[in-house]
Amino acid sequence: MKAAVLYKANTPLVVEELKLASPKAGEVKVRMAAAGVCASDHHWMTGDAEGPMPIVLGHEGSAVVEEVGEGVTRVAAGDRCILSFVSSCGYCRLCRTGSPQLCDTAGITGSALFDGTTRLTKDGEPIYQMAKLGVFSELGVVPEQACHKMPKAIPFEVAALIGCSVTTGVGAVINNVAARPGATVAVFGCGGVGLNVIQGAKLMGASRIIAVDIYNHKLEFTYKFGATDVINSKEVNAVDEIKELTDGGVDLAFDSFGSAMTTSAAVDALRKNGTAVLVGLAPVGADAPINMVDLVRSQKTLVGSYYGSASSHETFDKLIDWYLKGRLNIDELITRRYALDEINEGFDALSRGEDGRGVIIF
Ligand SMILES: [Zn+2]
Ligand SMILES: [Zn+2]
Repeated sequence: MKAAVLYKANTPLVVEELKLASPKAGEVKVRMAAAGVCASDHHWMTGDAEGPMPIVLGHEGSAVVEEVGEGVTRVAAGDRCILSFVSSCGYCRLCRTGSPQLCDTAGITGSALFDGTTRLTKDGEPIYQMAKLGVFSELGVVPEQACHKMPKAIPFEVAALIGCSVTTGVGAVINNVAARPGATVAVFGCGGVGLNVIQGAKLMGASRIIAVDIYNHKLEFTYKFGATDVINSKEVNAVDEIKELTDGGVDLAFDSFGSAMTTSAAVDALRKNGTAVLVGLAPVGADAPINMVDLVRSQKTLVGSYYGSASSHETFDKLIDWYLKGRLNIDELITRRYALDEINEGFDALSRGEDGRGVIIF
């Protein structure tokens, strides 16, 4: 079976034959159906994220169950699944206190399965699988906990996007206590996650949704998902413009890009009592300057949000329901489709800043 392997940062992915072992206890063999091309994969490719190599990247995927290992009861052969990029152990402090998306055990075992080994090899050498998934592969062995059974009515490419960008973006809004109908919202960065923050804000009944980006074509695209105003931060000072538009600042600001500049701007764009949510992953080691006096005197809140701030499986169910009812626009997020062999073209389009999401179709 074929997979796309990253051997070294700043080299193209190599699509080649790998060997896949059978699932062990608690594991599931899946045939991938669709996989999203996400900025988090790109961070590994550019060296902005660190991890073991060689690795099969890809953490935004949907699949069909082929075979289950010993003791697996939640899914059976033939089931269609959204894959969660955090497999929660169920026993660590985070899992037990209601935050399985932050599972410590999943973090410690990282790009290997829970027993610390991988099922993928090339000439006898282990190949890691990103987030215990590695969805840029025709077949894979993943933890049972990754598999979220879904109805047949959800197209595979839509299901793949629910696996990362839709849950991360919409979840960051709907699972935040500060999100209330009538709120004013600013969103910095309008890529795959940013567009979903925008539609999350629309779902929660925001009165104004201001999209900020450096590409005019990306800003134009945000109107489809609920933006009411757009600002090109290359042309004007985005913070000044947001304050002008909202008479002093927004209730909620999201940094869906992840950089010192956008996080500082998100905090600066808030009104008193406002909340800034950092959603995008910045390069490893990045720091953002924060106006400390303003944070106190204006009683602002700055929070991080990972994988929609809640159990991914809980958020998946809500998103499936809203998609089937026509309340979530996932179809139009998908703008380009590729075969696995064309995967490097998909990442070139991502780094050029093209609209929407590219998806690998198997
Ligand atoms: Zn992702
Ligand atoms: Zn855990």
